[in-house]
Amino acid sequence: MKTAKRMSIKEMWHFILFQTKSFPSMKYIILFGSVSAAVVTYIDSFLYAKILDSLLAQAYSTATRWVIVLVLSVLLVQLLAAACNRIYQHGTYPAELNAKKRTAQKAFSMEYEEIERTETLQSFRRVRQGENGHGGIKYQLQLMYSYFTELAKVFFACGFVALLLLRSDFQKESIFVFVLSTALLAAAFAGVLWLGKKNFEKIGEKSLKMNLENERSNTLASYIVNFMMSEEWGQDIRLYQTQSYFVKKFRAIFEIAKGYIEYGRYNGKYNGAMSFVLQLLAGITYGYIVLKAMAGSVSTGQVLMYAGAIITMMDSIRNAMKYRIDIDYSNEYLKTYEEFINRPNMHYDGTLPIEKRIDNQYELSFRHVSFRYPDTEQYVLKDINLTFRVGEKLALVGKNGAGKTTLIKLLLRLYEPTEGQILLNGIDIGKYDYDEYVQIFSVVFQDFQLYHFPLDENIAGSENVDEEKLARVLKQVGLTERVEHMREGRHTLLYHEVGDGEALSGGEAQKVAIARALYKDAPFVILDEPTAALDPVAEAEIYENFNGLMGEKTAVYISHRMSSCKFCDNILVLEQGKIAEFGIHQELLDRQGRYYELYQAQAQHYL
Ligand code: ADP
Repeated sequence: MKTAKRMSIKEMWHFILFQTKSFPSMKYIILFGSVSAAVVTYIDSFLYAKILDSLLAQAYSTATRWVIVLVLSVLLVQLLAAACNRIYQHGTYPAELNAKKRTAQKAFSMEYEEIERTETLQSFRRVRQGENGHGGIKYQLQLMYSYFTELAKVFFACGFVALLLLRSDFQKESIFVFVLSTALLAAAFAGVLWLGKKNFEKIGEKSLKMNLENERSNTLASYIVNFMMSEEWGQDIRLYQTQSYFVKKFRAIFEIAKGYIEYGRYNGKYNGAMSFVLQLLAGITYGYIVLKAMAGSVSTGQVLMYAGAIITMMDSIRNAMKYRIDIDYSNEYLKTYEEFINRPNMHYDGTLPIEKRIDNQYELSFRHVSFRYPDTEQYVLKDINLTFRVGEKLALVGKNGAGKTTLIKLLLRLYEPTEGQILLNGIDIGKYDYDEYVQIFSVVFQDFQLYHFPLDENIAGSENVDEEKLARVLKQVGLTERVEHMREGRHTLLYHEVGDGEALSGGEAQKVAIARALYKDAPFVILDEPTAALDPVAEAEIYENFNGLMGEKTAVYISHRMSSCKFCDNILVLEQGKIAEFGIHQELLDRQGRYYELYQAQAQHYL
């Protein structure tokens, strides 16, 4: 089992500076807050000693003065520490929001092929989990703040110990006893530190292991709970009666409890041992101070002061070690976060603007394009040569897995060709500015997604909706009446994820997706299985209006319904990543080749 990478104090400091960039005074708050929280502990010990000594010397007015100093100074420092803490709490909130924003922006700016990788998905999941709980930026900053406070306490306590050692009156104290007792005390301290370090390293290792396991089971648990509660899966779960299957899967998650018990046992054992050793050290320390007091090197009040300082020091060492374990663990998340944030952005570094053309003369062509998916050997497309002529309606057909969707993904620059080039008006599409390039496309993917937001915003992809255009596209896809009957008309919230919305049927959802593509009004339209979920009447309507709907636009339809291809200017048949046939409907039928086979396979069911 590997241990977490330790973060040095310098690294922690850099982390704080980076995360609180938007609040530059935060570093002073943390420093000042840590020091004042530490100082307050020692002011107590120091002033109590003064008061006690004054009382013992019957110097009552001096004692009263010290009491006033004690009350005022403790109050002042505590106020300062509390103020720092308040400002700190206030300031870390934006830091956390910024971190979340950075994660989301990163996810959007990553290449699509990166997003599809299991490794990326896993790291994204860990980052999200970290953000929402253990390891989140706010939590991490809090840990470091507490850690620095404990270190400050240890630092001050070291000052007291140094003072104690210096307070030796060798006329009264025997040098031999001094050296022996100091050596004994130093050895006891070193022993405790060594034991503590070993102890906490072991606990840290166990805690990391347990937390990582916990993380895995949390991912599984939230996956199962999400889909057990989801509208989409509800029917399948009931009909296939898979409830008990999922409940069993869920039970497996409780296995993690064993890890917790084991960890608890281990933690208890080591903490118990540590407490015992610390008590022993406290005893030795008291013995040492009493020896000094007996020799007259320290006063009665100072006995209390030094004892208090040393006990606080030991507590702080223990706390600092504990915080350290937590920092190391959540540092695992930070590493993931850092790694995630530093993943390459899209290498869509083309800068050419797209010429805005009212005549929509955007001609796209594939030149000897071959492609295989990253980390795979098999070519999915092989030597594709194809031109989408302006205004042409092209149907793309072929069996499942023939490469139709992949061809579209290359066209949309979601992937880059492994070999060959795709050109827009003669220029490699990679040279164009990506944002401008995607402006020329309206796409309805087979697995399109509607947002659980209002219907009109779904179509417009924005909160600013052009009402006239919206009404037009709703009419074009035959949704006007349906929308009028919705609870809040075109502003009706869709689905139930973020509120009490209205559900759509598969066909209605597909119409909304088509409306979204029409609303965008781009010169090049791509429809992947655009009518698969529509009823025959709606499908016929859409197809009859197809040419009207698309107007002068260039359009590509991926379709399994051969009858729909009749409406297209050209048909391209893909087979195992290669162009098998190209031509118009009747011509291809007459040829009695692949297209004819596909057509016949479907037509025979109607005859
Ligand atoms: P179609 O749209 O014609 O059904 P696709 O273009 O979706 O076919 O898929 C073509 C081939 O590419 C299939 O064999 C499929 O398994 C493979 N494929 C699709 N997506 C990926 C991916 N992200 N990684 C690896 N292989 C993929």
